[in-house]
Amino acid sequence: MFNYLMPTKVIVGENCVSENPKELILGTKCMIVTGRTSGLKSGALGCVTSVLEENNIEYLVYDCIGNNPTIEECAEGGKVAREFGCDFLIGIGGGSPLDACKAIAVYAVNEPIEGSAFEMHDIFKGNFANKPLPMAAIPTTAGTGSETTPYSILTLHKINNKQSFSHPDVFYKVAFLDGRYTLNLPLQVARNTAIDAMSHLLEGFTDKKASPASDYIALEGLRVIGKYADNLKKGNFTIDICTDLLWAATLGGIVISQTGTTIVHSMGYALTYYKDIPHGMANGLLLGEYLERTKAVLPEKVDKAMAALGMSLNEFKAFLKECLPCDVTFNEQELIKWSETAIKAKNVSVCPFDITQSDEIEIYKKCLL
Ligand code: NAP
Ligand code: FE
Repeated sequence: MFNYLMPTKVIVGENCVSENPKELILGTKCMIVTGRTSGLKSGALGCVTSVLEENNIEYLVYDCIGNNPTIEECAEGGKVAREFGCDFLIGIGGGSPLDACKAIAVYAVNEPIEGSAFEMHDIFKGNFANKPLPMAAIPTTAGTGSETTPYSILTLHKINNKQSFSHPDVFYKVAFLDGRYTLNLPLQVARNTAIDAMSHLLEGFTDKKASPASDYIALEGLRVIGKYADNLKKGNFTIDICTDLLWAATLGGIVISQTGTTIVHSMGYALTYYKDIPHGMANGLLLGEYLERTKAVLPEKVDKAMAALGMSLNEFKAFLKECLPCDVTFNEQELIKWSETAIKAKNVSVCPFDITQSDEIEIYKKCLL
C-alpha cells in the first residue's frame, strides 16, 4: 500500500513571479520572510515587491533569517507577523528562510505562551489550534526542496541539534521556480545545495518508505540533475540550466515528502550544528559510504539510480570529492558523541540496511577521519 500527497502548485519558468500576480497574492496584507542578503542578491525580492505594489498590497520585509534558523528566531518572526496583522506570507531564499517561513506561519496565528496549551516547543508536536497562514515560496537555492515539503528544520539549542517538524498545513500553496534567482549563487553554495537535492533523491529512492510514485519522480530528478554534473564542477550556468536544477531540487522535495530522509540527513545534522558545515556539504560527505552500504542490500536500485545520474558509483564519489572541498578536522571522541544522538533519530527506522550505533561510528570515521 502507498499514498501520494503533494498539494503545492509549482510554476516554472523565467519571469514566473511577475507573470502570475494572482497566484502570488494569497491575501490582503503580506509579510515577506527572507534571508539577510538572498532576497536582494537573487533579485526575487524586487520582483515580489513590484507585484505587491502594482496590486496595492501592503507588505513588510522581514529579512532577519540566518542560516539554520533557530526556533526562537521563528517565534520572534511570528510575533512580528501578529503585530503587523498580515494574512499571508511569501518566503524567499534558501532552505533556511523557506523553513523559517513555515514556522512563522504557525506562530503568527498560534501565540506560544509558556504554561499554556501551546508553548514554543510544541510546534514539534504539531498541536497548534489554528491553521497556519497561507504561504508562497520562491527558492533562491536549488537544493532543499522546502517549497514542496511539509517539513521545517529548526536549530534547537536545547538538544544541541537540529530538529524537524512536519505538518500537512505547512505545505506552501504555490512555488515559483525561476532560474534567474539562482544564476548568481556563489559556486560552492550551488554545489552544496545541488548535492542536498541529490541526497534527497537518492535517500528517498532507497529508503524503506520508497513507493512506485516516489521512485518514478526520484529517477526523473536524478536524470535532470545528473546532466549538469560538469557544470557543477566548473561553475558555468545559464538561466535554463538553473531552472532545470531548481526543478530537480523541487522533485527531490516531492520525493522526501513521501519517503522522508534517512541516516545521511540525521547523521549530517551534527556536522552542521557543531562544525558549521553547510547542510548539503554535510550530506555529501556521508553520501558515498551510505550508497556503498545500500548497494550491498539493494544492488539493482543503486545501479538504477547511478544510471539515471549518468555516473558509476565510483564516478559519483569522485564528483562529491571534487565538489566538496572541506578542511574541517574531526576527532574520534566527537564522532562517538554525535552517533549517540544520530542513532536515536526517527530516520534510522527507514534505513535500507541494518544499522547500530557502532555502524554509525564506522561510517563517520570512514568519511571524516
Ligand atoms: P541557506 O542556509 O538557506 O542559504 C545558504 C547561504 O546562501 C546563505 O548565506 C544565503 O544568504 C545564501 N544565498 C541563498 N540564496 C542566494 C542567492 N540567490 N544568491 C546569493 N546568496 C544566496 O541554504 P540551503 O542549503 O538552501 O538551506 C539549508 C537549510 O534547509 C538547512 O537549515 C536545512 O536543514 C534545511 N533543509 C530543509 C529541508 C526541508 O524539507 N524543509 C530539506 C533539506 C534541508 P542569506 O542568508 O544572507 O540570505
Ligand atoms: Fe536536506
